[in-house]
Amino acid sequence: MQTLLLDDLRGSLEGQTVLVRLDLNTPIADGVVSDDTRIEAVLPTLQQLHEGGARAVVLAHLGRPKGQVDPAFSLAPVALRLSKRLGRPVALCAESRGPVVREAANRLSDGDVVLVENTRFEAGETKNDPDLAADWGSLARIYVNDAFGTAHRAHASTEGVARVIRAAGGVAVAGPLMQRELHFLSKVTQNPERPFVAIVGGAKISGKIDVVEALLGSVDRLVIGGAMANTFFMALGLEVGDSLVEVEKVDMAKDLLERGGDKIVLPVDVRVATEISASAEVRDLERTAVSAGDRIGDIGPQSEQLISEVLGSARTVMWNGPMGVFELDPFAHGTMSVARMMAEATDRGVLTVIGGGDSAAAIEAAGLADRVSHVSTGGGASLEYLAGDPLPGVEALSPRAEAPAGATESAASNDQGAA
Ligand code: ADP
Ligand code: MG
Repeated sequence: MQTLLLDDLRGSLEGQTVLVRLDLNTPIADGVVSDDTRIEAVLPTLQQLHEGGARAVVLAHLGRPKGQVDPAFSLAPVALRLSKRLGRPVALCAESRGPVVREAANRLSDGDVVLVENTRFEAGETKNDPDLAADWGSLARIYVNDAFGTAHRAHASTEGVARVIRAAGGVAVAGPLMQRELHFLSKVTQNPERPFVAIVGGAKISGKIDVVEALLGSVDRLVIGGAMANTFFMALGLEVGDSLVEVEKVDMAKDLLERGGDKIVLPVDVRVATEISASAEVRDLERTAVSAGDRIGDIGPQSEQLISEVLGSARTVMWNGPMGVFELDPFAHGTMSVARMMAEATDRGVLTVIGGGDSAAAIEAAGLADRVSHVSTGGGASLEYLAGDPLPGVEALSPRAEAPAGATESAASNDQGAA
């Protein structure tokens, strides 16, 4: 499905109240935003609405306040920082639903923006309560979802409200960040240029089994690293010592190895220590040489070489999950090498996409985030998308066929919509 985009509404926003769902779930320390990444990411979206003369009413969540008002999760620090970075006032509406929000929306002039207090102060938000969705939906005839990170959740502010506004004759569109995410993720899931290589790692198979399954069907090679590889080692009958392993997933790993055959690439050597710590003394071993008491914390140098060779011919690469405990220097080498390989592949014209919160943190730490094609900001959402699951927040948007008259031409020439 191609969804309608905010870009499609160019020229028709003037004086319109627009309800915008953003991802402003930023870390807060001592009442101050401690990382601007998400705030910076939404500035172009808000700027686009401002220039179009829209009156933006912004919905966003912060943390997990469990459906009740909790000052520790107020969006006040976010409003402050947003205002500073935008260079225009961003008022915070102290309530998250009801007449106070309506009044705040009514007071807006063209180009203004108001941030509505934490959507998760409402118990109905995560339950996708129809009354709550109707309350928000009554504020506007245009809804913009630019919060890809919560698109896999059918919440009142992501799914319910889009349906309400469409049912009332309005439109629900994808914002530019959402558009970019869907553009790149659909490129790797639908007809990727081949060879298509996926690199999957991280802590557990269990959280990613659906993705591994889906990828197995579509990739040319599937590289497995991180603690996930340990479970595959065990499936091969190898000793993994005291490494992190999911014993109850060994049968699943066996099955995947059988079905995957040569497609699956496992590390040939590993970096071990007797403890996983910042001061660990590491040793590199063939994967067959691990013994009791060893803990595998990273892939070894021969495996890095192997991955580099696999990537040598790739035209599309998807990476999800670090190769080791990259947070600790002794075990960071494999992950940092893969980060560099991703950047180098991008230089060769390869489409490179990174998903997963820790993998995104790793490419940031490597200083290479702007040297790959796309770093997805939606951990869970990107995993579900890659596993082939529909994202409720995207499914609820208006399809392209509903493009308003006059917008069809630009819509037809724009191939960046959701698929
Ligand atoms: P992402 O967020 O990119 O999807 P995950 O959350 O699945 O990645 O996994 C990231 C975590 O996996 C990191 O905290 C990392 O320390 C851990 N990890 C990777 N390899 C190992 C290993 N060999 N042993 C223990 N933990 C590991
Ligand atoms: Mg993670």
